[in-house]
Amino acid sequence: MTMIGDNLQQVRARIVTACTAAGQDPASVRLLAVSKTFGADAVREAHAAGQRAFGENYVQEGVAKIEALADLRAGIEWHCIGPLQSNKTRLVAAHFDWVHGIDRLKIAERLSEQRPAGLPALQVCLQVNVDGGANKSGVAAGEALELALAVAALPRLRLRGLMAIPEPAPDFDAQRALFLRARAVFDQLREAGLALDTLSLGMSADLEAAVSAGSTMVRVGTAIFGGR
Ligand SMILES: *Cc1c(COP(=O)(O)O)cnc(C)c1O
Repeated sequence: MTMIGDNLQQVRARIVTACTAAGQDPASVRLLAVSKTFGADAVREAHAAGQRAFGENYVQEGVAKIEALADLRAGIEWHCIGPLQSNKTRLVAAHFDWVHGIDRLKIAERLSEQRPAGLPALQVCLQVNVDGGANKSGVAAGEALELALAVAALPRLRLRGLMAIPEPAPDFDAQRALFLRARAVFDQLREAGLALDTLSLGMSADLEAAVSAGSTMVRVGTAIFGGR
């Protein structure tokens, strides 16, 4: 087995263990392989090992990889997980299947307008800021519902849920407490009637804490592809 294939098996095993500890069905947590900075060959290797969903942070780099792997396009789901500027929305709308970092209505409106007619709706998550840091991306928890309702009304987007990237915390319980803030916003939006199914929380270092807080999608780079 290749190193990437081996790493994928280990990450899948971590997810199963975390789900078991949290009393959750392992099938309820999806693995997004974050391939930023790694080449198309690494993605091809992970795909050969059964991985189907990939995340990219940098739009041009992601699009170059999507084009280099055009032969696998029908079997891969591409997620744009980085911060998104207005001048990149057209590229993202044309090439990706999912976008995780939406924190302003203007970006969502552009993505909806620019989504090509021949493609299915773009699947989106709002990024929520659970640390309260003013210079961080993400909508404030108190403003998430208003943004979610507006995004859910856009014709070419389908709002799937929330994403958060809390600061690293010193231990499991502290990390879990931050993830639980995102979970609370997720629950609030669902109680308000939004049909959300995706809580995108957790990375290589903290996926166990994220799963224990109810994550349904972990975004893992280093533990699969190696250090950057
Ligand atoms: C890089 C990145 C990840 C993966 O981080 P690792 O620590 O390498 O697992 C997940 N989510 C986002 C938004 C990232 O930018």
